[in-house]
Amino acid sequence: PARLEQLDPDVFNAIAQERNRQETHIELIASENFTLPAVIEATGTVLTNKYAEGYPGKRYYGGCEFVDIIEDLAIERAKALFGAEHANVQPHSGSQANFGVYSAVLTPGDKLLTMNLSDGGHLTHGNPANFSGKLYEIVHYFVDPETGLIDYDGIAEQAEKEKPKMITVGASAYPRVIDFERMGEIAKSVGAYLLADIAHIAGLVATGEHPSPVAHADFVTTTTHKTLRGPRGGLILCKEEFAKKINSAIFPGGQGGPLMHVIAAKAVCFQEAAKPSFKDYAVKVRANAKALAEALMTKGYKLSSNGTDNHLMLMDLRPSHPDVSGKVAQIALDKANITTNRNTVPGETRSPFQTSGIRLGTPAVTSRGMGEAEMADIANAIDLVINGLESENAIQQAKDIAVGLSQRFPLPY
Ligand code: PLP
Repeated sequence: PARLEQLDPDVFNAIAQERNRQETHIELIASENFTLPAVIEATGTVLTNKYAEGYPGKRYYGGCEFVDIIEDLAIERAKALFGAEHANVQPHSGSQANFGVYSAVLTPGDKLLTMNLSDGGHLTHGNPANFSGKLYEIVHYFVDPETGLIDYDGIAEQAEKEKPKMITVGASAYPRVIDFERMGEIAKSVGAYLLADIAHIAGLVATGEHPSPVAHADFVTTTTHKTLRGPRGGLILCKEEFAKKINSAIFPGGQGGPLMHVIAAKAVCFQEAAKPSFKDYAVKVRANAKALAEALMTKGYKLSSNGTDNHLMLMDLRPSHPDVSGKVAQIALDKANITTNRNTVPGETRSPFQTSGIRLGTPAVTSRGMGEAEMADIANAIDLVINGLESENAIQQAKDIAVGLSQRFPLPY
C-alpha cells in the first residue's frame, strides 16, 4: 500500500511544512511542548484501529485483551505519578475532562464559582460561548488588577455569599503558585466541591515543582500535552468515592470509544514523568522562565505580578509600550520566527482580540535543550522586535537570533 507521501501529497507536504516551522521557530506558547519520539511512535500505531467502549475488563467489544493491558498501565501509572486514588485516562482533551467532572456531580443550572477568563481562567470555566457557561450558573472571581495575584480572602467572601455547588481553581495564564490548600479550605467551608484544573502545571505538580492539589481537591483535571509533555489529551484524577460517577460521565456520558493509541502514549508519558530526568526537566523549565522574566524586566518590561513562579509569564505592554497591542506584538514576533500568543492581562483595557499582553512560556524551548544563556538571547530578540516594529533591520536581527538558536538546538525527530 502507498505511503502518505504518494497517497496524499497535499497532506504530506503540509505536515512537512509544519515540521519545518517547528524546527525553525522559537516556540514560546506556554501550552505547547515537543513530546518524545516514543510518544509520537505510540500514537502512530495499529491501536487507532480498535474500538474499546467501556473500561478494562468491562468492554462492549471483543478483542480488547491487549488494549486492556495498555489502559491499565496508563491508569496505574497516572495514579502513582500524582498519588491519586482513581484515574480516568479516556478524556480526549482537557475540555472533555472538565465536562466529565461537571456532568458527574452537577445538574444544569447549578452554580459554579470560577476564575474569570481574561484574568487567566479557561473557556471551560464558564465562558458564555462554552458548554460550561451555557449549562451552569456562573459566578467569576478575579485576580487583583494591581498585583495580578489571586485574592483568596475575596474568594472566601464570594463563596460564603454565593454558596456555589462547585469552585474551580487552575488557569491558562497565571504565573504564580496556586494555594490549593487554601482553596480546599474555602470549598469545604461552604460545602462546595473543588475542581483543580492543572492543565498547564501538571508537569510541575508531577515533579514537586508546584504543590499538588490532590489532597485538597475532590477532582483534579489536566491535559497531558503541556508541561507534562505527553500526547494531546486529558486526564481526570479523583477520590475512589467519585470513581463510578466520573467513569460514567466520560463513557457513556460524553464520549464513545476511547482513543487507545493516545492512551498508550499517555502511559508512556506517565512513566517518563516519574523519572529523575523529568524532574530535572521541570526544574529547568522554571529556571528558564525565571531567567527570561528577569531579562525582560531588566529591559524595562512590566510582567504581571512582576515575575513568575512557574513555566509562564505575562508581559503587560501598557506601561512600557502603551500604543502596542498584544496582537501587533504577536504578529511582529511571528515575522522574526518567534511564536507567542497575545493574551489579556489583569485589569485589561483592550478587547480579547487586541489585548495588552503577550503570554510566554518555557516548556518547549527547554525540551529543545535551551538554558538560561539562551533565555537572555530570546529576551534580546523579543526586545528588538517590540522596539523595532517598523524596522526591517531589527526584525531581521531578531530572526537571525531565533534561527541561530533553532539550528543549535534541533528537534529530536
Ligand atoms: N484547562 C486549562 C486551564 C487549559 O489551559 C486548557 C487548554 O488550554 C484546557 C483546560 C483545555 O484543554 P484542551 O485544549 O485539551 O481541551
